[in-house]
Amino acid sequence: MLDTAFFRRWLALAAAAVDREADRLTELDSAIGDADHGSNLRRGFASVSAALDAEPPATPGAVLVLAGRQLISSVGGASGPLYGTLLRRTGKELGDATEVAPGRLAEALRAGVAAVAQLGGAAAGDKTMLDALEPAVAALGDTTESFAAARDAAEAGAQATVPLQARKGRASYLGERSIGHRDPGATSSALLIAALAQAAEE
Ligand code: ADP
Ligand code: MG
Ligand code: MG
Repeated sequence: MLDTAFFRRWLALAAAAVDREADRLTELDSAIGDADHGSNLRRGFASVSAALDAEPPATPGAVLVLAGRQLISSVGGASGPLYGTLLRRTGKELGDATEVAPGRLAEALRAGVAAVAQLGGAAAGDKTMLDALEPAVAALGDTTESFAAARDAAEAGAQATVPLQARKGRASYLGERSIGHRDPGATSSALLIAALAQAAEE
């Protein structure tokens, strides 16, 4: 069972990964966007960490809802509302349970990813974060071992954005010139799923 401390660990590991990889994320965004993805997420996750420390939530769902709200309010770019919706919707699905089975988290994350697709009007293949998130949640199952499979699926999905032409977000303005570059949001999504797998290993 996954308790509140597990969810805190996941978000702390995600914040650390975003901080470590911020320059790389911004570099990817400078090729097909406006060079702010790393700084956007660094600011967002710093705000998540501060809020969780200031008012530690009592349940897994409340951890994710608070984190999502912080991302929405602190990140100006497209990724803030999208990741915020992912976490908020996933947290709402978990309700007020104090412990969550891996299979229940898998279901909640699938609802969260569906909410991202609905908000952004994007689907897998559009060269967005969904190219990492959709294969990741498809690989999630009833055990924490499936988190490692989700991590690998997210990484493969992010890598597979390279030859795609962007159909959503800023990168779509480039048309065919978006081809040949890895999507920054799919790359950060792979970091978030890797942090989930790491939290389950610790
Ligand atoms: P902005 O583009 O506003 O500067 P960011 O640079 O923080 O925001 O985030 C860009 C990332 O957001 C893209 O790489 C892409 O993965 C994701 N993204 C943009 N638009 C959408 C959308 N409509 N649906 C899903 N993801 C999107
Ligand atoms: Mg950007
Ligand atoms: Mg921007």
